[in-house]
Amino acid sequence: MACAKMKMTVLGRYSPYPPPGGACSGYLVQHRGCTLMLDCGNGCVAAMQDHIDFSELNWVILSHLHPDHISDLFILRYALSLGPYETHPAEVAVFAPGQPAEEFSRLQYEQVLVAEEISVSDCLSLGPFAVTFAAGQHGKTPSLAVRVETDRGTLVYTGDTALCQPVERLARDADLLLSEATHLTAPHEQQRRHMTAAEAGMLAERAQVSRLLLTHIWPHHNEEQLVRAAQGSTEAPVRMAREGQQYLI
Ligand SMILES: [Zn+2]
Repeated sequence: MACAKMKMTVLGRYSPYPPPGGACSGYLVQHRGCTLMLDCGNGCVAAMQDHIDFSELNWVILSHLHPDHISDLFILRYALSLGPYETHPAEVAVFAPGQPAEEFSRLQYEQVLVAEEISVSDCLSLGPFAVTFAAGQHGKTPSLAVRVETDRGTLVYTGDTALCQPVERLARDADLLLSEATHLTAPHEQQRRHMTAAEAGMLAERAQVSRLLLTHIWPHHNEEQLVRAAQGSTEAPVRMAREGQQYLI
């Protein structure tokens, strides 16, 4: 019998490159027989086959068009078009911000991937998923935080962003907040583009989420330190995202 809760599976959690055997950002969200993929970084196509057949994939949402979040989309198109299928997979809609335009124009592929531009005010109804967005603060590249709601629970994924109010509002009362935690200490940038682990904890606290899962991890960071730093600023339980691990929401 199908599980009644939404299930989120971590395929990849590293940035800006993976360590040996790792993968960059990518997550499967499943509910009532439908599968939505959030981001498709390098290594995700290999990892997803441990969890689904390619023909089960319905939609992809790309938070933004940086390579560590999209590069396996260019491999996914081969998997969808050239795999040994009895019945060919249906076309998969790929929702993404339209900028940079040159990157966006590369997402569409023959009959298998259909690129659809999204903006922050869109509300998508994708099978059992109601999806809304907030504008992240990520330098010149538009980046969207994503809120996925079902009849059972709410998942919010920050994409890449500095700590900012629109993402805080989007995350309000989420059952699970999947937050980037790129830095251990704040960098001396004029324009902040990512969060520290402590800021991910602050986001969880301000938004009053039930659980915080840290992701978008630099391979050389000490993960226990990241979790401790995040836990220091929220009462919500904090865990490190694990590749292959599934979370019920
Ligand atoms: Zn990015």
